[in-house]
Amino acid sequence: MHRSTRLLAFGFVVILMMMISLALIAFYYSSSSSNSVNLTVTRQLEKINLINELSTIIHNRTRYMQSMLLNEDESIDAQALSTFNRFKGTYDETRNRLLPLLAPRERDILLAIDILDRDISELNQQVSILFMNGSRTRAGIILLSNVLPKTAPLLAHLSELTQAQRLDVQKVLLMAATDAEEKQNRFAMYAVFSILVSLGVAIMAVWYGQKLSAQLEDINHYLEEKIEERTENLLETQKGLLEDNTELARLALTDSVTGLSNRTHMGQILQKEFSRYLRHLQRFGIIMIDIDHFKRVNDTYGHDVGDKLLVQFSRKFEQATRNSDYISRWGGEEFLICCTTISENDLYIIAENIRQMIVNSEFKIKENITISLGCAMIQANENINELVKRADVALYAAKNNGRNQTVVSEFAPVWNAVNPG
Ligand code: GH3
Ligand code: MG
Ligand code: MG
Repeated sequence: MHRSTRLLAFGFVVILMMMISLALIAFYYSSSSSNSVNLTVTRQLEKINLINELSTIIHNRTRYMQSMLLNEDESIDAQALSTFNRFKGTYDETRNRLLPLLAPRERDILLAIDILDRDISELNQQVSILFMNGSRTRAGIILLSNVLPKTAPLLAHLSELTQAQRLDVQKVLLMAATDAEEKQNRFAMYAVFSILVSLGVAIMAVWYGQKLSAQLEDINHYLEEKIEERTENLLETQKGLLEDNTELARLALTDSVTGLSNRTHMGQILQKEFSRYLRHLQRFGIIMIDIDHFKRVNDTYGHDVGDKLLVQFSRKFEQATRNSDYISRWGGEEFLICCTTISENDLYIIAENIRQMIVNSEFKIKENITISLGCAMIQANENINELVKRADVALYAAKNNGRNQTVVSEFAPVWNAVNPG
């Protein structure tokens, strides 16, 4: 994947994760607050229920006392004590459940209720005993003058407690509503903030990605150009080297004075021709040429003139041979010509043509200048060295015979020594 694309993908993943985290935080806060509201409201409702239970017990007890006064039920006399005890038991049980739920101020109210209730209970005990003993009038007086007057403040306290709960619930609900509103605002703020931050990060990521890809493109472009340039240079250098090598190879095989092939090159040519001869039995021959009395020319006209003559001779040899023949400077003032695919007769004819051409040519020296030639055709069971040796021997013979002549090795006696023409 491209680096900028990877960066963009990474940026978007980060943004997504940020948004999810913010949403989770907001959700956690809002849910935890509503949970606590629910808990508080449930607690208040339980308190209200318990207070109501207490009120019911006290109301029932008051009503029971009223029925005692009104003599509504004859059996009341016998049951009074146990009934009051039962009222007392249920009151204590409900009150003990309520106490831990109350706030300190509410506890004070409950304690006041407790004191009144204890007084009423004690009086109820007395009243029950009086009833059982038949002193109904005395009991009635206690009920009317002592017990019932204490019941009213007790109920008032209870209603005060209930009222306090109602107020508390209202307060909690109000607080919850305010809190919810605040949470909503905060959540909206978080949402806006997260969107803004995400947008910012996204813009930054896009901007940076574009900058990076532009930079990468520039670098790529630069590298491509450099590579192209280097490749061109390399090709140029290679071409130069190849040319140099070719030139070196050419120089290594060329004689610098005459421009003809040198002895090394001629050695290779002879080997090639020898291979062709072995394969196709196409005979070839060589002509070895030596300039007569060249030392004298040098001594008389100087080495430079001698050099120029060597060059002129080379051109003459080229003119007198076929295109398929190879001419070399064999060494000093000696030349060796290789005539490819040739008969014994034609080899001799070419050698003589060369010799005649030199005799008939004019050079910028007073003396006539001549050459001696030794020819040899390749023979079966013979190698190049032996062939060259035979040509050399023939040339030696030409020199010995008086120079300016062609001697052909191992040919008919008529060609062995040809007199100057
Ligand atoms: P011969 O007829 O017996 O061949 O006599 P020659 O003088 O030609 O032979 P010799 O071997 O005595 O001398 C060869 C001379 O060729 C000696 C040298 O001055 C000359 N020579 C050889 N190489 C060069 C060259 O490169 N330039 C010039 N100017 N002369 C050369
Ligand atoms: Mg010589
Ligand atoms: Mg010579």
